[in-house]
Amino acid sequence: MSSLPPGTPAPAATWDLSDLFAGPDDPRIDQELANAARDAEEFARTYRGTIDVPGGPSVQHLLAALQAFEAVIERLERVEAYSHLLFSADTTNPIHRDLQQKVRQRATAIQTTLLFFELEWQKVDDTAAAQLMDAPELARYRYYLQRERRNRPHTLSEPEEKIIAELRVTGALAWRTLFTELISGLKFPIERDGQVRDLTLAEILALVRDPNREVRRMAHETQYRVLRQHDQTLAYIYNTLVQEKRTLDRLRHFPDPMASRHLANDLDPAVVDTMLQTVEAHAHLAQEYFRLKARLLRLPRLAIYDQYAPIGPEAETCDYPTAQRYIIDAFGQFSPRFADLARQFFERRWIDAEVRPGKQGGAYCMSISPSHHPYILCNYTGNLRDVMTVAHELGHGLHGMLARGQTLLEYHASLALAETASVFGEMLVFDRLVEEAADPRAQLALIGGKLEDIFATVFRQTILTRFEQFAFARQEKERLTPTALGDDWIAANRRYYGDAVEMDENYRWGWSYIPHFINSPFYCYAYSFGELLVLALYRMHQEQGDAFVPGYLHLLERGGSGSPAALLADLGVDIADSAFWSKGFAEIERLVNRVRELVRTVSGN
Ligand SMILES: [Zn+2]
Repeated sequence: MSSLPPGTPAPAATWDLSDLFAGPDDPRIDQELANAARDAEEFARTYRGTIDVPGGPSVQHLLAALQAFEAVIERLERVEAYSHLLFSADTTNPIHRDLQQKVRQRATAIQTTLLFFELEWQKVDDTAAAQLMDAPELARYRYYLQRERRNRPHTLSEPEEKIIAELRVTGALAWRTLFTELISGLKFPIERDGQVRDLTLAEILALVRDPNREVRRMAHETQYRVLRQHDQTLAYIYNTLVQEKRTLDRLRHFPDPMASRHLANDLDPAVVDTMLQTVEAHAHLAQEYFRLKARLLRLPRLAIYDQYAPIGPEAETCDYPTAQRYIIDAFGQFSPRFADLARQFFERRWIDAEVRPGKQGGAYCMSISPSHHPYILCNYTGNLRDVMTVAHELGHGLHGMLARGQTLLEYHASLALAETASVFGEMLVFDRLVEEAADPRAQLALIGGKLEDIFATVFRQTILTRFEQFAFARQEKERLTPTALGDDWIAANRRYYGDAVEMDENYRWGWSYIPHFINSPFYCYAYSFGELLVLALYRMHQEQGDAFVPGYLHLLERGGSGSPAALLADLGVDIADSAFWSKGFAEIERLVNRVRELVRTVSGN
């Protein structure tokens, strides 16, 4: 770590996209789009009506179709990736915006041409489909073929599907838009330094990290005072969406509200139940941390608005070349292959880390296809959180590199496994940073921040899931009112905070602004799943040492070529066993124990 002030631009940390295209005016972009459109037409002429035939297509015919299908998508993905990368690197440039819009329109048209293929495959009868999926020639597409047929028992007739799709625009989609417009239009007036300013929801939420308790308390009260004014509307929107989902689930023969999500994630409902229960059985670890934090902040008990209060000095900074060195070292201690791949990202300029006006905020990694390396965008300002962000995105990047042996249709890891390499990479670097941190206060800040991030993913997302379960069960009997939702919200939260954190009356409206409830029901458990999975794998590495590495690399190499349960079984992991999930908590306990020791050290007893 060095004395480089935050905000110092990272040297030579811009990416080089020239191995995709020469620039936004490269004539090859239009050529590729034209080729993709031509190939898609050709594909449709050749294969339409030849997949959904009595007895199914021949193995050779299906294989040729899959390869042709994949080739069109590959062409398209490169152009789409390029236009997106350019746009996010400078969102203010009208040339980038025009290109992205053009590519999107053309891509949608091409995808529409291709759509028949997956629909026809879904209609092939079960016996013929099972034989095809067993054929060794199709092994590299087997999981994709299985996945595409998963919704078959839940798909209605074509005219029925058409009516659902058309009415959706004035149904769920309309309510979602209303929610988004309502929430994003809210103004939260906050007085600071004698001046009243209207904040957005995102701005007022950011104040939970303010070092001044009075500011946090005021922000908390203002946030809920404003939300409460709209509680009848927000409850009405949610009630309507829950009811609509229940109706659709009934029509589509889903046995319960979570079933469609489990199907999409390819996870056994019992596995998810076990995971959620294991999380709840370990709430005492979070509560212990909150008590330690209260002691550190010299409070008798944390209020809900104290849980993200900073606990240490402003963290140290780290310049970009030093960050690279740390990451490569930490990755290298795990596996030389990790270090070699990470080095390529830095040396061959696949990362855009520089902070500049007009660049998209946050960070992402884009893995395009097996035939091309991934790219990473981040905004490196020099704080330690940024070092971990780079490590996180590099983890995604390594996953993308290691999975290049898969076909494009089985390249990307499924949602439940999408964070397997990123959170792991972040943990490797986190441990390294803690070791390097100069004093106990800095270590405390680092570990506390990490634990709070982990809690927000593991525990909070479990609360959100429980709340949804409560709401869906309640809606079977009665309309969801703000009072009822408030009761369910507090009940779900109580399982987590216990009596370690004080939930005031305002917090009863904590449910009212969560976009996932509105846009993607039961999505949140995947966050808990992914994070806890990696913590458990990280624990396994500590238990097994180097013996763990080959199996883990193999897991990454498999990309999205199997169900989460199957891919993890190869590593000797049984995700139906609560003992596996408890390993993740052993890792959390290790960190809580470190915090306890450090609190003793800094408070001198
Ligand atoms: Zn990620």
